Amino acid sequence: MKKELSLIVFAAIVSIWGLLAYNIPFFQYVAANNDAGIGAKILLVGGLSIVMAALNFWVVYLLLFLCRSIGRILVAATQICNAAGVYFVVVYRTILDGTMMENFYNTRWSEASSFFTPMMLLWLVIGGMLPACWILMQRVNYGSWKRFGIVSGTAIGISLLLAGANFNQFLWFGKHDTELGGLLMPWSYIVNSGRLYAQHRAANEQEEILPDATLRPLEEPTAVVLVIGESGRRANFELYGYPRPTNPLLAQRTDIHALPANACATYTTAAVRAMMQPAPSGTLVEALPNYLYRHGVDVVWRTNNWGEPPVHIEEYVTMDELKKQFPEADDGHEGALFAGIKQRIESSKAERVFIVLHTNTSHGAQYTAQYPEQFEVFTPVAHNVEEGVKNIPGLTNAYDNTIVYTDWLLNNLIDSLAAIPGRRTAMIYMSDHGESLGENGLFMHGVPMVTAPKEQYEIPLIVWLNGDWRELRETEEPANSYAIYHSVLDLLGIDSPIYDKQKDIFIYD
Ligand SMILES: [Zn+2]
Repeated sequence: MKKELSLIVFAAIVSIWGLLAYNIPFFQYVAANNDAGIGAKILLVGGLSIVMAALNFWVVYLLLFLCRSIGRILVAATQICNAAGVYFVVVYRTILDGTMMENFYNTRWSEASSFFTPMMLLWLVIGGMLPACWILMQRVNYGSWKRFGIVSGTAIGISLLLAGANFNQFLWFGKHDTELGGLLMPWSYIVNSGRLYAQHRAANEQEEILPDATLRPLEEPTAVVLVIGESGRRANFELYGYPRPTNPLLAQRTDIHALPANACATYTTAAVRAMMQPAPSGTLVEALPNYLYRHGVDVVWRTNNWGEPPVHIEEYVTMDELKKQFPEADDGHEGALFAGIKQRIESSKAERVFIVLHTNTSHGAQYTAQYPEQFEVFTPVAHNVEEGVKNIPGLTNAYDNTIVYTDWLLNNLIDSLAAIPGRRTAMIYMSDHGESLGENGLFMHGVPMVTAPKEQYEIPLIVWLNGDWRELRETEEPANSYAIYHSVLDLLGIDSPIYDKQKDIFIYD
């Protein structure tokens, strides 16, 4: 222990030890679940080991070089956590994903003591504490800033090069990200703990309360149903000129309006948040359902999706609850989400009703999993994006089937709203964002707005009213996500200082 090691050798030892002692389950998972040929698999696993070794090496080097003793303590502590983590992975056949970390933090120590078997304690000593002691006690020559620069550059260069060489596996990694992320030590528990913390913060984030509104007397009680689509791109809706019959029912209606619109973001969380606030904002502002609920509107939020801003209302209903409530309507997809809307509105005593249905309609990567069998009208289909990369027509067929299913859902909803007597009713359908189906080699969505292709932000906005109690405003500009807030306030006869008639798709009445 007297001999001094250079930081390069020290970090290399820690990194290789980490790979062998804590990350075998990760590589086993890659080898077992990737269906590349044996040669390609060896290249993949080999490449990944080098990338991981290089990155872990660099992190150890960085921590010790920049933070000296504190860095050492952190690296030593991760050995013990890694040892505990890999023990759980191997013995309990679990992965350290967000749910697992949530369980971990919510476990009382009195309950947890049953996990501490002699076998585990032995492994914690050998696999965690011994290496941690060595890390704390080994003398290290830290080297110069110049060497630090060269080492960092080389480690990052090697990682990027090999990551680039395995770029064709990008979609496979995307599909298995939860499992892979939950097996990778120490990143599984560090990243997932961080994400958990961010989630808890977001859920407890105080929203900025918007100025009070006044309610105008209504000529008739009113109900507005907002359907939030998932990854529905405008170009594939027949209503907007797509040459395939993807809207066989809605295209026959003369009482609907299909307006062009642009999403303000290309991923669900940001896009739905934009739909639920009146204008761009750096802070969390009072979301539309919360604002309406505070003003006495009967508000329902049903979801088969996730990622909406915090909704503080009484009737927030998840798909699991809806399936129990409407077992006969459960088609394994969106059926229960759309069930009983007419009855819900009819039974409301409120003058103003607002219902949100947050769907999952066209979510990838497996479009064929998003619709019941009878909606498979375009065939043959590619079953997921991975298959679709080599078979764009098949992928498009599968995606278009999700639009045919959406068409059916919306048409049924409109029919049921039309059958409600004594109330003005309206349906607004807007997709959260669009979707790429192979244009420019892109798939799915999530490209930052500055460079996003139009397929990812051009969305449909379909409007139906049971009569001509509101007219659409004529404008050259396509509407955007923020239009929802203002248009719903208008339909429900709510006067608010935050209302902006330029963003309302209707002529203010
Ligand atoms: Zn989405």
